[in-house]
Amino acid sequence: MDIHEYQAKELLSNFGVNVPPGALAYSPEQAAYRARELGGEKWIVKAQVHAGGRGKAGGVKLCDSETEIQEACEEMFGRKLVTHQTGPEGKGIYRVYVEGAVQIDREIYLGFVLDRSSQRIMIVASSEGGMEIEEISAERPESIVRSTVEPAVGLQEFQAREIAFALGLESALTQQMVRTLQGCYRAFTELDATMVEINPLVITGDRRVVALDAKMSFDDNALFRHSAIAELRDKSQEDPREARAADRGLSYVGLEGNIGCIVNGAGLAMATMDTIKLAGGEPANFLDIGGGATPERVAKAFRLVMSDSNVQAVLVNIFAGINRCDWVAEGVVQALKEVQVDVPVIVRLAGTNVEEGQKILAKSGLPIIRATTLMEAAERAVGAWQNDQTQATTVRAV
Ligand code: ADP
Ligand code: MG
Repeated sequence: MDIHEYQAKELLSNFGVNVPPGALAYSPEQAAYRARELGGEKWIVKAQVHAGGRGKAGGVKLCDSETEIQEACEEMFGRKLVTHQTGPEGKGIYRVYVEGAVQIDREIYLGFVLDRSSQRIMIVASSEGGMEIEEISAERPESIVRSTVEPAVGLQEFQAREIAFALGLESALTQQMVRTLQGCYRAFTELDATMVEINPLVITGDRRVVALDAKMSFDDNALFRHSAIAELRDKSQEDPREARAADRGLSYVGLEGNIGCIVNGAGLAMATMDTIKLAGGEPANFLDIGGGATPERVAKAFRLVMSDSNVQAVLVNIFAGINRCDWVAEGVVQALKEVQVDVPVIVRLAGTNVEEGQKILAKSGLPIIRATTLMEAAERAVGAWQNDQTQATTVRAV
């Protein structure tokens, strides 16, 4: 899960990272009022969207009066900001952050990521702040400093000092840099983040180390133990289909094809998608309904899959280990009674209580196409959809 810059700044400042004074606004008038409250003579108005590259796309504006702030905000609010990270559809601007303008002497890049090969948190820093890390690694790779942290002892002072020296910081700033690095590291580990990026981290004219931008992402599977962070979620910044699925505890990824998939387990979901392709079809989605697939969950999954207008057949593929086929079968029957499913439905069940499951499907009287193997299920799904193309009288589940 991603959060906004202003939220990341607030979290990081609780861990001792310096940030400029700032305030959030939901309207141009409020932004001007916030600037007056903050005081000072120059302000930066920053569109809050879940993407970087805002500066170049017109989402970060320097203003030196309240009128300018209002004008900058009128331009931003309600618009979609398109940056190189948002994709062509852009992200809606519904909040802006007003921040005191800082006099910048030097810009540094600072990132904390999970390095899978060393299984450690890796600190990536560069004296070339302001540019994106991709540009830095293409144009100035020699400026990048990398350092992995030993989890048993955490980020030690000597290691943080080494990074400060490698960036060429003057010795009077070392202590502030150490505090910033250790603060980010603690925020990363204590809040179960997957990424912390400060670009730029600046040295101000009055020799202070300040985070001018901040990005954080969190491990979705750890949000249950950070309710205050889970609350920072902003659905306006997410893909609506995926946001709906996440709300229902389902992991869903929308795709371009027309065979909807309802599967338990991520591995089986991947195998199902492959088999559909092998049979000559295209999956419409990846959907893992998880281990304890109650009838309600199966019904939710049907609703989600059917909300995609491209779906022309639904393949339910369950391998029941912890799950039970009879439960899933009940779920399918219940779902088909509740949700309007006007496309062929193919069900393949295997594993615990498979006979009971098959009986429930057979007794329901619903036009469910049953299959024993995954290959057969995929072929039937592709066949049912192709048939449907040519004859309108194909078996339909209503
Ligand atoms: P993005 O990375 O999305 O473009 P940033 O927050 O990094 O957005 O802002 C872009 C640039 O604007 C920064 O590199 C910095 O030069 C400038 N900037 C941002 N905030 C301030 C500030 N408070 N004071 C002065 N300059 C700022
Ligand atoms: Mg930035």
